[in-house]
Amino acid sequence: MKRKMVFIGLSFLAILILIGIHVLLLLHIYRLEAEKFDYRYREETKSAMERMLKEHKTNGVEKVFYLLDDISGKFVSYSNQKRIIDTLSFQKSVINKFYDGINKYQEIDKGISEYLKKTNVDDKFNSYFHIKELYLIDYPEVFIIYDNDSELIEDSTLNPNIPDDAINVNRFKFEGNNFRIVLEYYIDFSFKKREVINQIFSFLVIACFSLLVVISVFILTLLNLLKERRLSQMKTDFINNMTHELKTPLSTISVASKTLENELIHNNPAKVLETATIINRQNAQLTRQINHLLEVTRWEKKQFDLDKKWVEIEPFIKGLIKSFSWECKEKNIRIDDSIDLTTSNAYFDETQITSAIFNLLTNAVRYNRNQPTIEVKVWNDSMLHISITDNGIGMNKEELKHIFEKFYRVPTGNIHNVKGLGLGLFYVDQIIKAHHGKIDVTSRAGKGSTFTINIPIDGKNQDTAGRG
Ligand code: ADP
Repeated sequence: MKRKMVFIGLSFLAILILIGIHVLLLLHIYRLEAEKFDYRYREETKSAMERMLKEHKTNGVEKVFYLLDDISGKFVSYSNQKRIIDTLSFQKSVINKFYDGINKYQEIDKGISEYLKKTNVDDKFNSYFHIKELYLIDYPEVFIIYDNDSELIEDSTLNPNIPDDAINVNRFKFEGNNFRIVLEYYIDFSFKKREVINQIFSFLVIACFSLLVVISVFILTLLNLLKERRLSQMKTDFINNMTHELKTPLSTISVASKTLENELIHNNPAKVLETATIINRQNAQLTRQINHLLEVTRWEKKQFDLDKKWVEIEPFIKGLIKSFSWECKEKNIRIDDSIDLTTSNAYFDETQITSAIFNLLTNAVRYNRNQPTIEVKVWNDSMLHISITDNGIGMNKEELKHIFEKFYRVPTGNIHNVKGLGLGLFYVDQIIKAHHGKIDVTSRAGKGSTFTINIPIDGKNQDTAGRG
């Protein structure tokens, strides 16, 4: 088991690593595709700008710079009067003015858009200008308004909010009579993410699919392993229980036959008869157990032959309760019955249904630490319902899920002194299913259980709902 746990742990780790590698690979491919996109569109916009320069003799921002040169001149003379050039509020208002001017009068967006349309490239984009450096000039003096060391660099109201995906397509430097500027131009194509994801979509699907397959196989293997473990535990329990069931009669037979070998007993015919009866009884017990096992093998091959007849329900149930009470008369159990029928006959195999009800009644007595009180209720609609309620040890929800499985015994079933092979309820379930019926069970640990057999009155297949 320890080796299996190590195997599970290593497989789990391997899957985690695999997922990690897939994610890293996908991110890498995404990044490469995004770079490819940036490269392509940077080239397109550069060609657009070159064409603008060639055809319209402008780079799209020149005019703005000349306009701003005039405005800068006014700023310089105003600041000379007031001596406020190095105050933050002054610098801020100069930068704002520059941004306003650039965004309002630039012609570069229009030029690029026209070019992209002509070359049949999607032209949905947002553009951003970012002032990197700005100086006012009053020869020979140069005043810093904004640069890399400016306090205003963190001011979010001032600096444009440029998306991470935006491409830096150009850098303009300009020096006029009254200012010097370094300006960067960014373009953000709104369809970038969609296009990049389209490019990597097939990888994404293959990666997700292969991961899904690996994870499903892992989960299935794990479930199988758990099932195997449970089956192996059940097998061990079954062998232990069967050994006990077979050994007890065998050792009694062995003791009895040794008694018969003793010559002294030959003169006592009564003792001989008694010993022979013991051997016979134990032999019958052994035969019953072996037949039980053989029957299970037969059911597995689906050779369940039913001999159905119309049976009168009330006498059938009353007779069955009577013979069961008689069989365990020394245990002093109480069996109450209530029979409420609208039809008197039902179509079923009397022997098999007797056997199923006997199994349930036997369990009601065996799994009971109190004085057994059993209630048998019988009623009908289109189905015949027979419920058997006991005041026994009951079962919890988890145990209830498995009790109809072959060889299953509630774990404590081996601790308390009730021995069994875990075949009884499996057998009952098979009988009821062969009758196109179902068996329901409700139980509370420590309080008792109710098993309800439901079979169609006319023996015909009906739509049976799931077990409750
Ligand atoms: P077996 O009695 O040979 O163990 P069964 O298939 O008849 O096999 O029962 C399976 C398990 O269900 C038993 O081990 C027992 O713990 C539990 N069980 C069955 N009937 C009852 C009952 N009436 N009350 C409590 N537990 C029950």
